[in-house]
Amino acid sequence: MMTASIGQNVLVLNRLWQAVHVCSVRRAFTLLYAGHAHVVHEEGDSYQTLNFEKWHDISQDYCGADVVSTVAFKVRVPRVIVLLFYDRFPKKEVKFTRNNIFDRDKHTCQYCGKVFPREMLNLDHVVPRDRGGQMSWENIVCSCIPCNTRKGNRTPSEAGMRLLRQPKRPRWRPSLHVTFAKASEDSWRNFLDLSCWHVEVG
Ligand SMILES: [Zn+2]
Repeated sequence: MMTASIGQNVLVLNRLWQAVHVCSVRRAFTLLYAGHAHVVHEEGDSYQTLNFEKWHDISQDYCGADVVSTVAFKVRVPRVIVLLFYDRFPKKEVKFTRNNIFDRDKHTCQYCGKVFPREMLNLDHVVPRDRGGQMSWENIVCSCIPCNTRKGNRTPSEAGMRLLRQPKRPRWRPSLHVTFAKASEDSWRNFLDLSCWHVEVG
């Protein structure tokens, strides 16, 4: 008989110990049992990686409720596993979205350098649209409304304004969008960058 903890999630790390996925407990056990993953077990200040057999062994001394058990069998539910073979990042790129542009530019107007709440920021076409400016990572920046108005339908040099930095596609960061509620799982915290991009990993 399985306990309720089977409904919980397990954080999956790739070989570089980067969070790449969240899977079901059932899936985690399948990966562990097949030898595709090890359990990442926090021991004081360090982590041990344990194969299924060792994890099963140390589970016998464990008294918590988060176990999968039968009359003859008991194994603790892992919270984090690390994949042994898979080290590809999910192929999806950082999505080109309004929120991700705000994140990339850290809510900072790229002209005056001030930080604003989201609702006071616009997306600015560096090269105006009617001059062939694309809707792209390289041509869209975060701008406050006064700067956006001042710049109008001009290039920065025409407007006598200067970009803080040249806009670029953000470097891929293989992190998950995990809400704080889910990440309240303490054992996950060290592996999650909570200021991560909103990337769906499927
Ligand atoms: Zn501004």
